[in-house]
Amino acid sequence: MKKIFAVLSTLIVLSCFSCAKKNDVVKMGTNAAFPPFEWIEGSEVVGFDIAVSHLIARDYGRPLKVVDMNFDGLIAALQSGSIDFIAAGMTATDERRKYVDFSEPYYSSRQTIIARADTNDISSIADLKGRVVGVQAGTTGEGYVNEEIDGATVKSFRTVIDAALALKNGAIDSIVIDELPAKEIVKRNAELKIIDDDFLTDEYAIAVRKGNSDLLDSINKTIKTIKENGVYQKLSDAYMPLDGNVKILSADEL
Ligand code: GLN
Repeated sequence: MKKIFAVLSTLIVLSCFSCAKKNDVVKMGTNAAFPPFEWIEGSEVVGFDIAVSHLIARDYGRPLKVVDMNFDGLIAALQSGSIDFIAAGMTATDERRKYVDFSEPYYSSRQTIIARADTNDISSIADLKGRVVGVQAGTTGEGYVNEEIDGATVKSFRTVIDAALALKNGAIDSIVIDELPAKEIVKRNAELKIIDDDFLTDEYAIAVRKGNSDLLDSINKTIKTIKENGVYQKLSDAYMPLDGNVKILSADEL
């Protein structure tokens, strides 16, 4: 009898442990100043990455919690366990692979240059030599300018939105940042323009803690499924529309 009780209570403890885990949120970390991938609208974090994260959480069977933080703090937050995955337009680089595991890529991007609309002596990346260039801290753009542009004074900002303010008020000459966020920022600021040049490509992927293959496999499955079933296209049409009129999808429209 005692034995049966022991077995039963172990079973109850085990089943409650797994049901508690099922209801636990899965925490996604991002930097919500990177439209159209993530930005703040009213009091909500919205964007392409948020929509993808909702689908990831749904397939993983957990409620999603979005945690907004500085871009250059995301990997440390993942390592310490305060978030479970990163969806932040993050480029899968070899350097970052030392600290995190990346999903299959979900978006191909490239870097671009923003300048003031009245600038006429910057037409390519080479023209940034000896200039004051704004970048976002911890990004591939920051690494590129530091390593490749001779004599540039690099100013790192917490977000590209902060860098855009500095560009408008003349504190810097240009910004190097990912193409779609650059276009969104220029769309919202008539006094800025894009300088089109092709110098660095970025493959965005979702990051998980090293060895968290359970979550990584689930994320890869979600990415594969949405690419095949048309949902990825629906998200691109909403957040990266050709006519520039971004539409925000609510979680139940996904
Ligand atoms: N794709 C760039 C990187 O990973 C920038 C991402 C971002 O600023 N959110 O460094």
